[in-house]
Amino acid sequence: MKTDVIIVGCGVAGLYCALNLPKEKGILMLTKSKAEESDSFLAQGGICVLRDEGDYESFREDTMRAGHYENNPESVDIMISSSPKVIEDLVRFGAEFEREGDGFAYTKEGAHSSPRILFHEDETGKEITGALLRTVRERENITLVENFTVVDLIAQDNSCLGIVGHNEEGEYSAFYADYTVLATGGIGGLFKHSTNYRHLTGDSVAMALNHNIKLKNIDYIQIHPTTLYTEEKGREFLISESVRGEGAILLNSKGERFVDELQPRDVVTNAIHEEMKKEGTAHVWLSLENIPKEEILTHFPNIYRQCLDVGYDITKESIPVVPSQHYFMGGIDVDKYSRSSMDRLYAVGETSCNGVHGKNRLASNSLLESLVFARRAALHITDNYSEGQHTQEITIDPEKYIDYPTQYRKAVLDAIEKERNTNE
Ligand SMILES: Cc1cc2nc3c(=O)[nH]c(=O)nc-3n(C[C@H](O)[C@H](O)[C@H](O)COP(=O)(O)OP(=O)(O)OC[C@H]3O[C@@H](n4cnc5c(N)ncnc54)[C@H](O)[C@@H]3O)c2cc1C
Repeated sequence: MKTDVIIVGCGVAGLYCALNLPKEKGILMLTKSKAEESDSFLAQGGICVLRDEGDYESFREDTMRAGHYENNPESVDIMISSSPKVIEDLVRFGAEFEREGDGFAYTKEGAHSSPRILFHEDETGKEITGALLRTVRERENITLVENFTVVDLIAQDNSCLGIVGHNEEGEYSAFYADYTVLATGGIGGLFKHSTNYRHLTGDSVAMALNHNIKLKNIDYIQIHPTTLYTEEKGREFLISESVRGEGAILLNSKGERFVDELQPRDVVTNAIHEEMKKEGTAHVWLSLENIPKEEILTHFPNIYRQCLDVGYDITKESIPVVPSQHYFMGGIDVDKYSRSSMDRLYAVGETSCNGVHGKNRLASNSLLESLVFARRAALHITDNYSEGQHTQEITIDPEKYIDYPTQYRKAVLDAIEKERNTNE
């Protein structure tokens, strides 16, 4: 099968990339699970935007400070200056954000020096990704295939010709394309405690390792300070940073505060780990006592419901929270057009690393970064379009992939460990 562009993954990055490609190009989108099962759907807090030019320097400085100034300044500038256009598009595609009077309402999260985050209750990701998915489903040039796992790239002379993958029944197929875009999200599925969907296991990183595609900062992994502590196994439920942004405080077992809750995520996470170690506890507490009940119910209805389901009424009592793996700052090394080191192969969203986040991502910059650089990939493909060289058809040997989940998991975790050791 040959198409023009293959996009692997249908979170915000994959979907928005597809929508920015020309309508006359055939696009094949493949996703490992159901289309609604991406981390993009889980995003709670919101999406940053440049409110006005007066906030430019402050937005830039907050992003760089959170990233320990290891950010790529050019990527940061591109992200911030492109943000109004992205929001305009999202609204055009049908996403709704909280409003105040004639304009948008803005909220604030940790390490932001002013409110610049657009939100839709505490389900901003669902609102944005749902709107993009609906639009993609209406486009005749885009075919979306669910429950199809990509396991390999077809490459010749360091040029990507397509992908190999299998459906739910374990039947393998190869798809060829002039361009391939990897948008496979994060790596949380490799960790015991993570806020991510379990099927997000860094498959693109494993494929990149197999094909000597350049990776960057793969040991930069963000641990979110506040996920709901339960004895249950599975995905950890996030308590959005915007809850702290609106006034929630962290308490130890004696009911004492021990950290400024609005510092960058890595700082707050370290403080919580220290406190748990000092007290010998499995979690700390988050109290929303400073947030009016009405605000909790209108701004955080999803968090309210989820906590109630496991027995906590956040309008009346503190909840136990613990840090969990949350976000991958590193990934496939890409330039400002989202090009990887392999010709005709792009990477966008959380699986890519264009340096925006440096060593630690600022809250609510992820959706924005994914969208901005997915669009840039689409525009770059469009402006430079040429047909790929399909000189050979490959024969798939399913035996080669028989134990790939275990092998890929090990390969990625080993590579992260190696990078960590090198940097220490
Ligand atoms: C609980 C939670 C809350 C968050 N809140 C916010 C927030 O408020 N603001 C913010 O900016 N960011 C937030 N984030 C981060 C943000 O949601 C993600 O970084 C972003 O959505 C990533 O988008 P993506 O398109 O790169 O990946 P995803 O949305 O994760 O999509 C990945 C896609 O790739 C597919 N896939 C993976 N592997 C394969 C494979 N081998 N073959 C085929 N398909 C594959 C998946 O099925 C999926 O469709 C949050 C994340 C979580 C988990």
